[in-house]
Amino acid sequence: MLRARNLGEADRIYTLFTASRGKLDAVGKGSRRPKSQVGGRLQILSESTLLLHRGRSLDVIAQVSLVRSHWLGLVEPERFAAASLFAEIVDAFCEPDLAMPEVYALLTGAAAALAASDDPAGLVPRFQLRLLDALGLAPPAESCVRCGGALGTAPAWLDVDAGGLACERCGGARGESNRLAPEDVVNFRGVGAARGGRIPALTFATPRTARAIDELITYHLGKRPKSRALVGSGLAAGR
Ligand SMILES: [Zn+2]
Repeated sequence: MLRARNLGEADRIYTLFTASRGKLDAVGKGSRRPKSQVGGRLQILSESTLLLHRGRSLDVIAQVSLVRSHWLGLVEPERFAAASLFAEIVDAFCEPDLAMPEVYALLTGAAAALAASDDPAGLVPRFQLRLLDALGLAPPAESCVRCGGALGTAPAWLDVDAGGLACERCGGARGESNRLAPEDVVNFRGVGAARGGRIPALTFATPRTARAIDELITYHLGKRPKSRALVGSGLAAGR
């Protein structure tokens, strides 16, 4: 489950991310009543098997069998903030009724990692870069996004207008604030590595790499995710 909003007196509309159909909205009738099974089982990033009935405009949730809930782990505030961010950006990037198995696997793996993490904010950059990769939006990590020249072990500049990293000749004019030192460029490659796999708990971004990935997410979304501000502490502390 990615998101829920109230409908009428006792119902909720849930935005679900499914393995078979991608993102979809469905109504939980009476799900705000205290004893509702639907309301009790559909929590953020929980995994369930659902029985849906076709409604006039939206599907109606008839039955929920919980497969995996990370609720006890994710209820901790730092983890909850990161979980909210993951759900928000998957919701924002994914179109309704389009199955995205790679994103589904990434999100379920990330939920499990978050629920057990001592450093939830540290998992954010990797999740974001892997999500961009799964969506086909991740920039090349080895070459300049403008001229295609190899970045090698040189510094690079974040070029948000081109959605990637640029070499000094193409991006040097973007100034010190967009400069990634050679170790950041190497780190950027490491954070985005192991494509298709799950999130290893210990691949952390440097502060500059983390900021660059945030900027790329904002560039592709056209706005900064609302939940981003709630997660910030791990980045501010540096790593
Ligand atoms: Zn270049």
